[in-house]
Amino acid sequence: MIQIYLRILQFVRPYWRHLSVSIVCTVFFSLFSGISIYLVIPLLDTLFDQNALVEVTGSAPDPQLPGWIENLKESVSDSFNSFVFAGEKLDALFRICLIVLAAFFLKNIFGFIQAYSLAYVEQGVMRDVRNALFRHIHKLSLGFFTHERAGNLISRVTNDVNVIQHSISASFLNLLREPLLVLVFLGIAVSISWKLTLISILILPLALQVTARIGIRIHKESSNIQSKMADMTSALQETITGVKVVKAFGMEKFETRKFAKQTKKYFEYVLKITRIRNMGPPLTESLGVLAAVVIIWYGGKQILVDHTLKASEFLGLLFAILQTMHPLKELSSVSNRLHESAAAGSRIFDILDMQPNIREKPGAVELEELREKIEFRNVTFAYEETRDAAQSDGRAVLKNLSLVVKKGEVLAVVGPSGGGKTTLVDLIARFYDPVEGKILIDGVDSRDFTIESLRSKIGIVSQETVLFNDTVRNNIAYGLVDSPFENIVRASKAACAHEFIIALPRGYDTMIGERGIMLSGGQRQRLSIARAILKNPPIMIFDEATSALDSESEALVQEAIEHLMQCRTCFVIAHRLSTIRNADRIIVLDGGEIVQTGTHKDLLKEKRGVYHRLYELQFNA
Ligand code: ADP
Ligand code: MG
Repeated sequence: MIQIYLRILQFVRPYWRHLSVSIVCTVFFSLFSGISIYLVIPLLDTLFDQNALVEVTGSAPDPQLPGWIENLKESVSDSFNSFVFAGEKLDALFRICLIVLAAFFLKNIFGFIQAYSLAYVEQGVMRDVRNALFRHIHKLSLGFFTHERAGNLISRVTNDVNVIQHSISASFLNLLREPLLVLVFLGIAVSISWKLTLISILILPLALQVTARIGIRIHKESSNIQSKMADMTSALQETITGVKVVKAFGMEKFETRKFAKQTKKYFEYVLKITRIRNMGPPLTESLGVLAAVVIIWYGGKQILVDHTLKASEFLGLLFAILQTMHPLKELSSVSNRLHESAAAGSRIFDILDMQPNIREKPGAVELEELREKIEFRNVTFAYEETRDAAQSDGRAVLKNLSLVVKKGEVLAVVGPSGGGKTTLVDLIARFYDPVEGKILIDGVDSRDFTIESLRSKIGIVSQETVLFNDTVRNNIAYGLVDSPFENIVRASKAACAHEFIIALPRGYDTMIGERGIMLSGGQRQRLSIARAILKNPPIMIFDEATSALDSESEALVQEAIEHLMQCRTCFVIAHRLSTIRNADRIIVLDGGEIVQTGTHKDLLKEKRGVYHRLYELQFNA
């Protein structure tokens, strides 16, 4: 826990200036809090017309206090009294009012600066941690995202970062300010009457304990409530996004019942927490009053019978003691908060410590251009979770695969689903690295190139189009922000997208909504092709780019694809064999191995081959 804590503090370091301001202000805030309470005594004295300069009978020094404190107390109060109580009573009142005003004013000023500069530190740290997480998450390899649920990651960046904020305020505010305040107030109380103070601090913490307990219960229950709320939200989200399926299967009643179960649970939890929460104040109040009564009885006796205490002093003492309650309460929750933020911190650092599997070699060079060929040489690949099993029983996704694709060639990859087609093309862009063997670009291992330069040479159009909630224009120019508008239009025309874009309400400046909801599948696909055309990469990968489309938009998309294939090295994965008849070469991938190679005509001749079977399935069914 300490280590995590120290790591969180590392994020605090750049903010040391604001932090120091906050700390200094905290000290002054505590001092002025004490002074403003202390001033109540002379104020009351003036109001109740007691001359403070007259010795109260028996206000003898407390026997146990060391001499120097007594002396200090004497001299401070003497000079104070001689200043305030000199002259007319009304003047004295005026002066004391002014001082009270000044003390409270200063206290609040320091309080404000302290709170503001601490918030600056906290929010700054949170911003930095969030940015670090985001940056790091985007550095991680694709494989990481298949293990980690998006919701988890999102919660790391939002909730967990919020929680570590507490450790900052806990350590720099609560662990400093609250003890200081307690010290100051207790000091005041002791200087008035140490006996009474002792009695009070024996009784009052009892009441405090009870409140703290209740606080902990509430805290626990509220996290339950939050998870119930999350359940409800996800149920709602699921059924709303899947409303068509719900209706089609006539599951409205079932879903409604399921939802009602969740609202019932939520209802119960909220009632429970309300019960606990509302039990707190009456309980604490009763206990507090009990404690106060004991103190008042004892103090009252000293005032009325023993004459060892002034009424004003007694009230000052009560004030001071009461003021220690809040800081004590805060302190009691500090360890809880530190624990929580350590847990959140460790979840955050787990991610920050994760090393991307795909790393750039030191001294990697730029890939300038593709000159000759791309070669797979004895490539074996298995996904991480099955890697060990794959090595023992040969269930690898790609098995000792070799393949040469010349520059400008259009290679079609076909085969049954799960045959490893997507995996094969993912290796080219280094979304994954081969377990054995290598991929060579013009004879150089692709791992010797910088990842950025490698990926900049590759365009990918896949079945899932990814569009961002932005304008059409910015979606096409994704990653190429400075492209001139003419180029964007030219790319759209080549992608057969221009027509429908200008028919949109605001043409190229139309916002296309999250995930491109406003557009049809074919339109989305043509936008992503326009994006690829604008990027103009020498290597193009089409992964079932037309599979999700109806035949009419498929024809349009097919035309766009043909434009994009010109003068490029292409890998085309296609479900429908009609789309790849014109490929220079076709490979059939089955079970991670190339089982057939040739042109469409060649492959059809092999009557017992996989290709012939696939062909039969599609055209003679
Ligand atoms: P295709 O594109 O030919 O349909 P894939 O290359 O997507 O096939 O998948 C090949 C095999 O690898 C399948 O058995 C699939 O279950 C497995 N696979 C694909 N992606 C992953 C992944 N991210 N993690 C683990 N296994 C995967
Ligand atoms: Mg696939």
